[in-house]
Amino acid sequence: RTKEALSERSEDNLRSPICCIMGHVDTGKTKLLDCIRGTNVQEGEAGGITQQIGATYFPAENIRERTRELKADAKLRVPGLLVIDTPGHESFTNLRSRGSGLCDIAILVVDIMHGLEPQTIESLNLLKMRNTEFIVALNKVDRLYGWKTCKNAPIVKAMKMQSKDVQMEFQSRLTQIITEFKEQGLNSELYYKNKEMGETYSIVPTSAISGEGIPDMLLLLVQWTQKTMVEKLMFTNEIQCTVLEVKVIEGLGTTIDVVLVNGVLHEGDQIVVCGMQGPIVTTIRALLTPHPMKELRIKGSYVHHKELKAAQGVKITAQGLEHAIAGTGLYVVGPDDDVEDIKEATMQDMKTRDILIYAS
Ligand code: GDP
Repeated sequence: RTKEALSERSEDNLRSPICCIMGHVDTGKTKLLDCIRGTNVQEGEAGGITQQIGATYFPAENIRERTRELKADAKLRVPGLLVIDTPGHESFTNLRSRGSGLCDIAILVVDIMHGLEPQTIESLNLLKMRNTEFIVALNKVDRLYGWKTCKNAPIVKAMKMQSKDVQMEFQSRLTQIITEFKEQGLNSELYYKNKEMGETYSIVPTSAISGEGIPDMLLLLVQWTQKTMVEKLMFTNEIQCTVLEVKVIEGLGTTIDVVLVNGVLHEGDQIVVCGMQGPIVTTIRALLTPHPMKELRIKGSYVHHKELKAAQGVKITAQGLEHAIAGTGLYVVGPDDDVEDIKEATMQDMKTRDILIYAS
């Protein structure tokens, strides 16, 4: 099965990269997500942005539209970008580690007025441990004294509009923050000056309030992932799926919210997930995504799917999920698979997860 799945892999069939937003409390993670979503999500399907389970999906078309001013002639080869909606509350250390574990790339948000803070360093360590690529959003540039708003403008254009004083304050704060990264053993540089991406981390100045630098951030995420992660982003039939949350939903019972990283899930698939008392073997009863219309979403109605293709955030209903454990993998039992082997693989995840939570 693996061979067959691998032979289907191709550079012309990529899945969406998965991105998470990390950083210290109050640096603007929630606001950044709101800002890149715009009002589109509230209004339904405008711009093609869709609210998924635990994630927001940005189609390539939307990203192309918003980065037009950057004149990036580079072709967008990925279908879009899936951004994980990490909770605003930073007490969920394990949630953050789960979020970063399944991500292809992260946005590490730093407040330009505060520099590196304790949870910035914590996030950094988590990213290093997981070998996750990331870019730095140097957020709240609009708080520089005297900043002139240039709504949603590319950062170089916005910076040219600023007075000498603002530019100097920006430069001195940037230099300070680059030094702070250096103290953590990391080289970093403004993204448009960065000639050694991969060795040196890219910094994108942003404002989540007025949108300066947001086009740059979106383009960098997509270009960087499709340039360096093609192999990882090739679509395959081999399921790669992580349980983000276990939730009781009225009328549905215990459900699991998963991020389908790669492969296709079908209604009726036999699955194995980690449980408190050992592996849970069950069958997918329903594959659900939120209703595209906000009014209907509030009433808790979902769209049912016969099958769903990665990358997506999905809610799964099935029997016996009461003791499922978040942060672990979901496996599908294929026609040629031995359930016992899969049960063993599933529980192996459990051990890894404990180590990661402990380490974070
Ligand atoms: P989180 O804890 O990292 O999710 O931070 P939030 O997104 O909740 O933002 C914390 C506070 O900073 C809120 O009052 C936001 O309105 C504010 N904020 C976030 N981003 C910006 C920004 O780019 N500029 C300014 N001026 N304020 C911001």
